Amino acid sequence: MYFLIGVVIFILFCIVFYFVLKAKIIRFFQGLGFPISQLGDIIRDVRLDEEDTPKSLASMDSIYLKQLEKDFPNIEISKLKRKAESILMDIYHSIKNGDVSGLEGKMKTFAEDEALKHNSISDLKIHNTVISNYNKNNKKATIIFSIAYQYYILKNGIKKKIQDRVRMEFIYTLELEEELKSPILDFRCPNCGSPFHNIDDESCSYCGCKLLRIFNRIFICNNIVRY
Ligand SMILES: [Zn+2]
Repeated sequence: MYFLIGVVIFILFCIVFYFVLKAKIIRFFQGLGFPISQLGDIIRDVRLDEEDTPKSLASMDSIYLKQLEKDFPNIEISKLKRKAESILMDIYHSIKNGDVSGLEGKMKTFAEDEALKHNSISDLKIHNTVISNYNKNNKKATIIFSIAYQYYILKNGIKKKIQDRVRMEFIYTLELEEELKSPILDFRCPNCGSPFHNIDDESCSYCGCKLLRIFNRIFICNNIVRY
């Protein structure tokens, strides 16, 4: 009997202790200037703030910009960066709309993988785009951009901010006719089929065909990966 009374008193003590402690914690945070009425708000706010810092990017712009301008005097890197960003926005727009059929190749694969992870993505915002790598030889020229961005997902009914980053590879190629969508990595003369000695050649060394009159040379997006 006395044991039972003891247990009841102990439980009552625990309940009172819990409420007193909770009230003290809330008063402590209010004293710090937090307009808080529920402890749950504190915990949720902390969780939402977790992903406020954009992912860091290692910019190699200072190294590669000069080299790129030397190799491609007509190149407009800022325009190419905006192009990379608009491709990324297209990808997330397609995921949001639940229809990735308008995307091609690696971009489509990336979008399909993303759509499997989150079914609700909104408010994409791009923080920064930098050059991470640049490589050119006689056969191929490649620029790698890194992009840091954020978006929101819905998790248990709460909007959660996600910070993310991708690498996007652009390759130098001939501007293709509409029916040929895949990039030409193997440069050949469209007139006689001879291979080019150098991707910068302006005319075919075999038949003399003026190549620049037939095709524009542009950088196109070839791959996208998260890292
Ligand atoms: Zn030729």
